[in-house]
Amino acid sequence: MQLTLLGTGSADGWPNPWCECASCEWARAHEPRGQTAVLVDGRLLIDFGPDVPRAAARFGVSLAGLRHVLVGHAHPDHLGPEALMWRSWSTVAAEPLDVVAPPAALDVCRAFLRRWEGREPGGGESPLRLLPATAGEPIALGGPGDGEPGYLVRPVAARHGDAGIGPAVLYDLTAPDGARLLYGCDTAAPLPAPTLAALAGRAFDVVLLEENNGDRPGFGEHLDLPSFARLLTELRALGAVTASTTVLAVHLSHRNPPGDELARRLRDLGAQAPPDGTVLDVTPGGRTEPGAAPRAPGPTPPAPAPPPAPPPRRTLVTGGTRSGKSAQAEHRLLAEPDVVYVATGYPADGSDPDWSARVEAHRDRRPAGWSTVETLDLEPLLRTPGPPVLIDSISLWVAARLDEPDFEQSVHRLVEAWRGARRRVVAVTDEAGSGPVAPTPVGRRFVDRLGEVNARLAAESDEVWLSVAGLPLRLRPQS
Ligand SMILES: [Zn+2]
Ligand SMILES: [Zn+2]
Ligand SMILES: [Zn+2]
Repeated sequence: MQLTLLGTGSADGWPNPWCECASCEWARAHEPRGQTAVLVDGRLLIDFGPDVPRAAARFGVSLAGLRHVLVGHAHPDHLGPEALMWRSWSTVAAEPLDVVAPPAALDVCRAFLRRWEGREPGGGESPLRLLPATAGEPIALGGPGDGEPGYLVRPVAARHGDAGIGPAVLYDLTAPDGARLLYGCDTAAPLPAPTLAALAGRAFDVVLLEENNGDRPGFGEHLDLPSFARLLTELRALGAVTASTTVLAVHLSHRNPPGDELARRLRDLGAQAPPDGTVLDVTPGGRTEPGAAPRAPGPTPPAPAPPPAPPPRRTLVTGGTRSGKSAQAEHRLLAEPDVVYVATGYPADGSDPDWSARVEAHRDRRPAGWSTVETLDLEPLLRTPGPPVLIDSISLWVAARLDEPDFEQSVHRLVEAWRGARRRVVAVTDEAGSGPVAPTPVGRRFVDRLGEVNARLAAESDEVWLSVAGLPLRLRPQS
């Protein structure tokens, strides 16, 4: 199966043509994305928004070989029926074309063609075959009788759509060579239970999953970065996404951080967001590789990012008070199904309302599936294999241990356990000395010791990040 990403952007594209926010300015300068659509083997197209014809031209792709078009729902960024009229003016006007879509989307096609062509699409001599897509009812397209190998299409229900457009569907597609693709666009989470049941054990080779909302949730029925991560975790638990599945984030909008930052965030989740025009060769059960140039002459397509590397074992996130360091640390583990959150601070027992409020805010932000352990005994946790550990924070650990007579020994044991960590660990710490010099001897001693501990842990870390004003700055590795 060969995929050509004709578009990976949201309805308004990224940049939104009217918008001058920082995210749009970055996209405009570096990586503009049009409405999401993917061409499969040059024969089958999923989603057909008004950007598609121009994207095909831009990437040197002819749509003449198209025999099947799948449309997820009737929102206009997924369905531009005028292109069907333009086809009737072309060299392939008489060739058959299947349009598979929920009934409301087929109605949009019918209404347009009736008005502009004065004829009923799908009837009489029309080359168009309009096929309703209903969740749970598989459709075989092409095949031996039609002189070409066939595709098996399994529509599943999305969490998207309303009374106006009817139910939206996602597509589980099996290509003639056996490669399996999930097209998960558009949807919010959680997916309907019958959809999750239908996707269980599918072990897709490629999953295109929408991630419209980035860090600004609440727009339409879409996924944002945290719900994208949670859904991915669920699909992994179901065996729909496996270690060899290539996960592509699509339907990307300016609600996301600038693209280089988004790429890093997605890498932490085992996903990527290759640019529009990317060609991917998919081997069933194997790896997905950058594909050959498009079939027609045209500009060289951009190469996709290499498959995500395994996550780093030891990550240290340092930063000043309220710099966003805890959130940065949590982002790294959002796609992990089980995380042990280790609180080293003193418990929120109500005696200090401000402290209780901080602890509460942190707790609310963490996914429900994470377990919490309150302990200062970090060594056994680090030395035992298990799910990833998030330690928040090293500075509170230092504060609690500072007055113990064997403090130096404790630090030594902690650094040794960190070096030999048997599981993935992300630790948060405070950047020592960012504030004024402490006015008391104990305050100065705390800052001195914390600075030493941070430096020793950083020296033994695979990745070190500094959080400043909510933004991560990578200190190690440097490139
Ligand atoms: Zn959309
Ligand atoms: Zn914008
Ligand atoms: Zn939509």
